[in-house]
Amino acid sequence: MFKKILIANRGEIALRIIRTCKEMGIKTVAVYSTADKESLHVRFADEAVCIGPPPSKDSYLNIPRIMAAVEITNADAIHPGYGFLSENANFAEVCAAYGVKFIGPTSLMIAKMGDKITAKDTMIKAGVPVVPGSDGLLQDVKEGIGIAKDIGYPVIIKATAGGGGKGMRIIWEESEFENAWDSARAEAKASFGNDGIYIEKYVEEPRHIEFQIIGDQKGTVAHLSERDCSIQRRHQKLVEESPSPFMTEELRIKMGEAAIKAGQSINYEGVGTIEFLVDKYRNFYFMEMNTRIQVEHPVTEEVIDYDLIKEQIKVAAGIEISGKSYFPKLHAMECRINAEDPWHDFRPNPGKITSFHSSKGHGVRVDTHVYAGYTVPPQYDSMIAKLICKAQTRDECITKMSRALDEFIVEGIKTTVPFHQKLMKNQDFRDGNFTTAFLNNWDFKNA
Ligand code: ADP
Repeated sequence: MFKKILIANRGEIALRIIRTCKEMGIKTVAVYSTADKESLHVRFADEAVCIGPPPSKDSYLNIPRIMAAVEITNADAIHPGYGFLSENANFAEVCAAYGVKFIGPTSLMIAKMGDKITAKDTMIKAGVPVVPGSDGLLQDVKEGIGIAKDIGYPVIIKATAGGGGKGMRIIWEESEFENAWDSARAEAKASFGNDGIYIEKYVEEPRHIEFQIIGDQKGTVAHLSERDCSIQRRHQKLVEESPSPFMTEELRIKMGEAAIKAGQSINYEGVGTIEFLVDKYRNFYFMEMNTRIQVEHPVTEEVIDYDLIKEQIKVAAGIEISGKSYFPKLHAMECRINAEDPWHDFRPNPGKITSFHSSKGHGVRVDTHVYAGYTVPPQYDSMIAKLICKAQTRDECITKMSRALDEFIVEGIKTTVPFHQKLMKNQDFRDGNFTTAFLNNWDFKNA
């Protein structure tokens, strides 16, 4: 087992990893930018190294500075968390060259799945259903328009390097194609430095249902059930739950098998997520694979009673898994609490938290790095906490979530708590009657 893990991340996920390491008897090293010197991950780790100024490129994304911290502290493994360098094949390669274990898949696996077109190709070969679309990158607008005609509108333009909903445009008719093409390419170039784009059939009113998988170094892959992440705003997840209210036992078996096949096709090592779109007829299509721990992993942990970070560290250390898949025993839901103003277009609202009280009680879990007096820096992601509830049934889980949201008090900055309170009372949501389009026409103030 590893002796010392350096956590190349910040915020709640850095704390989450430190907690499990402590329970496993592993020492931890935090790295931090000057904007984060008061952060809990810095205080709770055994050692902490400042790696630079606030901009991510000078700190959390700066590979030479992180490797210098590894060298100073003698860490034998790096946990990348999510975001930042977690899906950076080059970083995984540098770690391997330094002889420090990257807790996650190999750089080759990341490269295969990180590029969405290559990933789709790999899935087609493995016999996993994918959304119909272009074979590979589009050369020019004309080719795009031709393919869109063949597969039929609506279509969606996507960036092969995409993430976080960036570089995507839905096109309903040919007259919109050229504008959408230009703006998607510009956005992809600005966000990822790669303007390669492709097109897919736009699956109308689908559900986003993803499967958690885990693979060991011997090629054994198991699934740990699904999460429904259909509650999104601008393709960004706001609420996740397991089991999916749309799931049937039969569909879970079919999708679980496809998820395992997807992992096996690249001999996947580590924890990962296979994302699918599911249409109203319960046809499902592979969308992409995330080769890291996800923000929403606690939902799975709560329904199957499993520490995903612990298992992730174990497989990285070469420990084998049984290959048994897990099925939900309870219902769990996560609300992402962001420092954003939900009544003003979810505008980021960083600043000082003057008063903070997080929900407590039976079946309530809060993963957060903030406290009263903490200043949310403007440079990073606006998520300040994840509120997770579990109960015997979905109904009870929503009731508990409502109660927990009423107890969640943050003063000094605006948060998305009031949005979640409204959502929990919405009858369609309570009935499990929603798709990824659910929030598109919400009048957030008056919903
Ligand atoms: P990103 O990596 O940027 O998050 P994804 O490929 O995971 O992008 O897609 C994000 C969201 O966009 C999905 O959850 C879904 O709501 C929507 N989406 C993506 N592709 C399609 C498609 N072909 N049809 C309909 N919706 C889609």
